[in-house]
Amino acid sequence: MMSKAIRIHAVGGPEVMKWEQVPTPQPGPAEALIHHEAVGLNYIDVYFRTGLYKTQLPAILGMEGAGVVVAVGDEVQNVSPGDRVAYAGGPLGAYATERVINAERLIKLPDSIDFTDAAAMMLQGMTAQYLLHRTFKVQAGQTILVHAAAGGVGLILCQWASYLGVNVIGVVSTPEKAAIAAANGAKHTIVGYTGLAAEVKRITGGAMVPVVYDSVGRDTFNTSLDCLAPLGMMVSYGNASGPVPPFDISVLSNKGSLFLTRPGFATYTSNRADMLACSTSLFAAVAKGIVKIQVNQTFPLEHAAAAHEALEARKTTGSTVLLP
Ligand code: NDP
Repeated sequence: MMSKAIRIHAVGGPEVMKWEQVPTPQPGPAEALIHHEAVGLNYIDVYFRTGLYKTQLPAILGMEGAGVVVAVGDEVQNVSPGDRVAYAGGPLGAYATERVINAERLIKLPDSIDFTDAAAMMLQGMTAQYLLHRTFKVQAGQTILVHAAAGGVGLILCQWASYLGVNVIGVVSTPEKAAIAAANGAKHTIVGYTGLAAEVKRITGGAMVPVVYDSVGRDTFNTSLDCLAPLGMMVSYGNASGPVPPFDISVLSNKGSLFLTRPGFATYTSNRADMLACSTSLFAAVAKGIVKIQVNQTFPLEHAAAAHEALEARKTTGSTVLLP
């Protein structure tokens, strides 16, 4: 049997992504074969495509998908053929009509969640979940700073934090994105990074913020530190503008005994119990309407290169799904 997949044979621009016929893999004893109905687009896919994050080549990109179980290995107990499932996280291989994956990584989908929403929410939504509840546990009444607030993770952070009684200052690049962030719960919005700390000072009456969720990386790292209150927490969880260069830790002391963490999805979902706790919390937030997943763009999986171009050009808002 054959499948179709977006494969890269070299790292580089979107043009390295090729729509190819590949043999449909057979599940090993602990694995399930899934037919994808929808595949999530995430910024991490760009990092693997450009070579910022390393993988063996050739590689099928993608870390998130939703679909139906086609077959399972002998040892698999948690899912059966016909089950509706979704997953997020490594190993790579989601940009394909079919894939195999360790069945322990699969989460059964509630009937209320369709495949497109599932593919959009698993990685971005579980990330927002752990950032707000584990990395830095936000509390009602706090004012926090969220970069790329109209993006995939950003819109979920805005909605969830505002439900928790937190005042979100959302940073975005255009007035249109500011309006979207505001409509999704950001109490304040700031367009651009110039004068960011001064604006945060004005909004917070000089107090500054206890946490910054910074997914932009190189362009915002230093400015973000300047927005923190003493003992504040810098959560540097992405590098959309490029990786943060090597850093002198004495700066943390000078700027107010700050905390710095660089969290990764893999750590927070490394065991099944943590992964299920995180996904259960997300599904509950979606079921209660606390978080509405905004799939603002879809592309045929075959045209994943166009989706990457749009994401890197900052032309997307909310989540983007690739349809096989
Ligand atoms: P987004 O939808 O947020 O897209 C990226 C956004 O980053 C853009 O829309 C843009 O918003 C902003 N941005 C700022 N500077 C640049 C730049 N130079 N080039 C491109 N974009 C830029 O993507 P995702 O929701 O998929 O991911 C958001 C971030 O979260 C990424 O950095 C990703 O790596 C990270 N992430 C981290 C995880 C973890 O566990 N550590 C897990 C999941 C995601 P604007 O135009 O408003 O500036």
